[in-house]
Amino acid sequence: MDSLYSLIDKLEETSHLTKEEWVFLISNRNGELAEYLFQKARHWQHHYYGNQIYARGLIEFTNYCKNDCYYCGIRRSNQNADRYRLSKEDILECCQIGHGLGFRTFVLQGGEDGWFTQEKLESLVESIRKGYPDCAITLSIGERTKESYQRLFQAGADRYLLRHETADSSHYRRLHPPELSSENRKQCLRHLKEIGFQTGTGFMVGSPGQTAAHLAEDMLFIRELEPHMVGIGPFVPHHDTPFAQEAQGAVELTLFMIGLLRLMLPKLLLPATTALGTIDPLGREKGVQAGANVVMPNLSPTSVRKKYELYDNKICTGDEAAECRMCLSRRMQSIGYELAVDRGDFCMAAP
Ligand code: SAH
Repeated sequence: MDSLYSLIDKLEETSHLTKEEWVFLISNRNGELAEYLFQKARHWQHHYYGNQIYARGLIEFTNYCKNDCYYCGIRRSNQNADRYRLSKEDILECCQIGHGLGFRTFVLQGGEDGWFTQEKLESLVESIRKGYPDCAITLSIGERTKESYQRLFQAGADRYLLRHETADSSHYRRLHPPELSSENRKQCLRHLKEIGFQTGTGFMVGSPGQTAAHLAEDMLFIRELEPHMVGIGPFVPHHDTPFAQEAQGAVELTLFMIGLLRLMLPKLLLPATTALGTIDPLGREKGVQAGANVVMPNLSPTSVRKKYELYDNKICTGDEAAECRMCLSRRMQSIGYELAVDRGDFCMAAP
């Protein structure tokens, strides 16, 4: 087996490692190696995106969910979740505030909530598309049929986020009830790409039972899918879930995986996630310094922020949208980056 450093060089040159190489690299990582990786990651981040960090305005529009994922605080079995839905008017108001603040991408995220029928979702997307022709619309509303995705795309949605969560099917079963499968999730991702969405996948780092071999499979799956975005963040336990007593994911491993992703697919849109900012006060800054180039501040009305509680101690649940944007802008400036007023599309430049 090549040395750790030459594996990083090989990844940079060929964007391919074997499963054994991934496992070796991930299991034997150390601080010095991580610095070597992050330096290369920042090189590619600057090459394609300069010092611009793209901001997405996140609108968490419903916390009703028919699914029962063992890790998630808004799973249907959580009787203590205080459920809410935003009306179309509420959502459009969030967009209006967000646009005024310089957001040019809106991410509509929610549980899988049947109250929002296909028709309601299409009409919502059409209204945002009409009101904000200069903005990208991203949906993050779970698994649907190809036809449904197709119609949402036609209604004006540009991007879709659907983390595969873990590429290993037995690990997937450890994290989800039997009615959900890794195969279906991956199929949805392939459909989204075929339709033409800028597609985002991703996984949690340090979820219960996760091994280096699972992370290796995640990297292989992502290499094969070639998504436009990859959102990764540490698993953070939620007190009202079956995983309440499980350990949270590590900041250090999350950063290492961000660096690896930047090197494997250098044009990726890679968020420094709120979960990373939750378990480390400088988590998002560190994420950017490991190769991330996207942040997703919250645009949801403060009255519902606390209720969209996927995990414990989620940050920024009390701040107004304007404060969130300013705070992140300051944070990015403190490390030499700028929050861009831009749709922040995937870079189409030649390699
Ligand atoms: N219903 C949508 C949105 C899910 S919430 C969907 O199915 O895609 C967005 C992401 O939050 C999830 O994909 C999951 O990776 C992450 N998440 C959920 N619970 C979490 C937890 N306890 N810790 C860290 N991340 C979590």
